[in-house]
Amino acid sequence: MRGAADSEVGLRVTLLGTGTSHGVPAIGCDCAVCHSTDPRDRRTRPSILIQLIDSPPASAFAGAVRNILVDTSTDLRTQALAHDVRRVDAILFTHSHADHVLGLDDVRRYNALQRGAIPCYGDAPTLENIQRMFAYIFNPPAVLAGGLPQISPFRIAGVFTLGGVPIVPVPIMHGPRPILGFRVGAFAYLTDCNRIPDESWPLLDGVRTLVLDALRDRPHPTHFSLDQALEVVARLKPERSYFTHIAHDLPHAATCARLPPGVELAYDGLVLEM
Ligand SMILES: [Zn+2]
Ligand SMILES: [Zn+2]
Ligand SMILES: [Zn+2]
Repeated sequence: MRGAADSEVGLRVTLLGTGTSHGVPAIGCDCAVCHSTDPRDRRTRPSILIQLIDSPPASAFAGAVRNILVDTSTDLRTQALAHDVRRVDAILFTHSHADHVLGLDDVRRYNALQRGAIPCYGDAPTLENIQRMFAYIFNPPAVLAGGLPQISPFRIAGVFTLGGVPIVPVPIMHGPRPILGFRVGAFAYLTDCNRIPDESWPLLDGVRTLVLDALRDRPHPTHFSLDQALEVVARLKPERSYFTHIAHDLPHAATCARLPPGVELAYDGLVLEM
């Protein structure tokens, strides 16, 4: 992916949510992490915002794609308010698990602010599941009481461009199920995975900033453990790696202290500039 890696576009990535599906703290849990006073131990459901900075020039393309939301997490509204996300030009879906899609209804607010539908990109199974899970959006009742999100679904079938920037879907394995990671320039976001298939490694060549699933220390059938995530980092050798989709097993400060240089746990609100 030479072209994508060499892309000149500036990126700002905000980690909106870095927790596993239950969120941290978990309901009814008395563990040390769930009772931690460190704000980095409070983790909402997984999502990131990718902002394309100053390319192409704003004057050349009024209304060009600037803000790309990856997944509509259960906590979308809370995240948008916490990080003042006022615009969403496109949504990329990694897969259709509940923690990654259940905030879709909150998109109504962006429809109102932007006066239009928002394009949503996903693979075929993800779009099918979303259309079934959100039947009220796609098969609305004859008599409507209340607004509906306006989204335009697009099936991902390879590399596509948003705002003139190549978006590279990276197939990854989430247990038995293939889902999508995404690469933009030298940045890659691989949440919810426990294996990177052979054919996807070349797509990650030259990635310098990596956000990668690392659930906990103990192995899990559908997520990388911390050790497995470190093996990926050792093979890919990005300059900076941040682990996400973190369970309440991993306290932020103590876990970062035992990670190698250039690797740390992500936290909600972390901003990466590229
Ligand atoms: Zn806990
Ligand atoms: Zn998942
Ligand atoms: Zn998940």
